[in-house]
Amino acid sequence: FQPIIDLDARRMAGAEALIRWEHPQRGLIPPDIFVPLAEETGAIINIGLWMVEAVCQQLANWKKQGADRYISINVSARQIPDGLPPITLIETVNRYGVDPANLAIEITESVFMGDSDAAKIWLDAVHELGFRIYLDDFGTGYSSLSYIKRFPVDVLKVDKSFVRDMSEDNSDRALVGAIINMARSLELTVVAEGVETQRQLDLLEAAGCGCVQGYYFSRPVPAEAIEGASRRIELLL
Ligand code: C2E
Ligand code: CA
Ligand code: CA
Repeated sequence: FQPIIDLDARRMAGAEALIRWEHPQRGLIPPDIFVPLAEETGAIINIGLWMVEAVCQQLANWKKQGADRYISINVSARQIPDGLPPITLIETVNRYGVDPANLAIEITESVFMGDSDAAKIWLDAVHELGFRIYLDDFGTGYSSLSYIKRFPVDVLKVDKSFVRDMSEDNSDRALVGAIINMARSLELTVVAEGVETQRQLDLLEAAGCGCVQGYYFSRPVPAEAIEGASRRIELLL
């Protein structure tokens, strides 16, 4: 889990679930290596279903501790619409006694590229059930305003490539500023990802960015290390 920090509330508001494969011989394998393969073979369907269970378990633990936090999960185009039925999502959160508003679904624009009517029906259903929709890697693809209008998107995640170059590159700074302003006028929240330095954080705060995520605050950590990360974040804020 990698903490997501709300800059206005000055706290860790949630976390993104980032999958790892603990291989008996090769050690920890990052998702860039096996997720594309899992998409190809279809194994991503069962991995995705497992992910929802694991995340609901964590959300139920937080609820028990009285911690109000959300978790976002990454969902591949391959899982939509039939690999992760809306009914399965709602049944799972209900089984764990978790509020759907605390589970966010991160998708990329690739979801809109295939059968966009089927994707829209899926997204509308999921949104209607109370789950929130995050548009990931924003700025790298078409970043089409018509998508944001047509599909139920709640949050834009600014891709880390823009954040990385913000400190040196004025055009990237302008671009991030424009995305933040556009999001604000559409009443969308912005999460900037890949924040590694104080300088990047300062620039993002000055631009009015609502939430950030990145190594500056915390790397992705196993569940048992989250409370420690949350306390370190409070000291940094
Ligand atoms: P993503 O969704 O864009 O996730 C953000 C990636 O940026 C993560 O890499 C995270 O560890 C990394 N990151 C976070 N903060 C920083 C930073 O400050 N600097 C830099 N350089 N990197 C940072 P990770 O965990 O290796 O995940 C890679 C990709 O794998 C994810 O990109 C996502 O597309 C995919 N992925 C991860 N988990 C899942 C999953 O459960 N299902 C599916 N379908 N895809 C997943
Ligand atoms: Ca993501
Ligand atoms: Ca991303």
